[in-house]
Amino acid sequence: MDFNDLADLIFPNAKEISYYEEKYPERNLPEGATVTRFAPSPTGFIHIGGLFGSIIDRKLAEQSKGVFILRIEDTDQKREIENGVAQIVDGLKAFDIIPDEGVVSENEEIGNYGPYKQSQRKDIYQAYAKHLIKQGLAYPCFCTPEELEEIRTKQESAKIRPGYYGVWAKYRNFPIDEAVEKIKNGENYIIRFKSQGREDRRIKHKDSIKGNIEFPENDQDIVIIKADGLPTYHFAHAVDDHLMRVTHVIRGDEWVSSLPLHLELFRALGFRPPKYAHTATIMKDENGSKRKISKRKDPEAAVSYYHEQGIPSDAVVEYLLNIANSSFEPWRRANPDKSISEFELQLNKMSVSRSSF
Ligand code: GLU
Repeated sequence: MDFNDLADLIFPNAKEISYYEEKYPERNLPEGATVTRFAPSPTGFIHIGGLFGSIIDRKLAEQSKGVFILRIEDTDQKREIENGVAQIVDGLKAFDIIPDEGVVSENEEIGNYGPYKQSQRKDIYQAYAKHLIKQGLAYPCFCTPEELEEIRTKQESAKIRPGYYGVWAKYRNFPIDEAVEKIKNGENYIIRFKSQGREDRRIKHKDSIKGNIEFPENDQDIVIIKADGLPTYHFAHAVDDHLMRVTHVIRGDEWVSSLPLHLELFRALGFRPPKYAHTATIMKDENGSKRKISKRKDPEAAVSYYHEQGIPSDAVVEYLLNIANSSFEPWRRANPDKSISEFELQLNKMSVSRSSF
């Protein structure tokens, strides 16, 4: 028994990844064209931070004759709500943000790089997970929730970094024959990435907004395929942004700490990573200190609030561009009558510190 047998047993029907690499070729776009995506979960509302990101996505794609994609990240089916997709599409439309490609209504999509709802891409993720298993870069983990809890408790009481890594990763070096037997016996499992990283080594990265940043390498054997066969966010991010040939990932800076993991996943999968631009979280001033705008506490967190208050969409977009780009205000002063569409957004003029809203 070898890794190939294990991979075939777990995903007997998965296609070779070459099939997908050919099906979704490099895009034929003008030099320098930027491909961006907004990738919300359909939880029933658009957060002001999501609108902020999608304005940037839309503009960068438009300015460079690129493509702006709307992808729906619905792999956490517990969080999903009815009409969640329509609310996102209509919510963006109200601000004149129309994707070139991707989901355009609850049941329709356009473009050749789909499906654009992650729940419909199960076969694709499984093909790439199988590919990793064959190379010994992913493996089945049979830990029960109780066992994982036990690991966490031990780490906590010994004041050790938490997680499933190194010696704590119980099934990392489990004999293939025994794994095969467990699977044949019908035991439950999930698929984990077998990290090759080391916590005592550092990686450097240049973020398009934050500039040079440095982190310890990832060494966590994170879950890539869950028990329901769907991927985790991290794995889907790598597979989708590669296959959709996204050039720039613009997302909130709460994701910056996942970067070492994402860069490692791209490398393990043989993908060239996209450029990352982590935008500063929009903050709220409260009693002299700053905090994140929260969906629970602040009505202005949801973009629907501005319509309810009678605030014109253009005003909201102007305001967001103003906190996004230091060159917006002088441009607006010099061009009071021009349409927002004529403003050129520059990633290197994005604000790095967290602006108050
Ligand atoms: N689905 C993720 C979110 O809603 C997307 C993050 C990303 O843009 O990569 O936060």
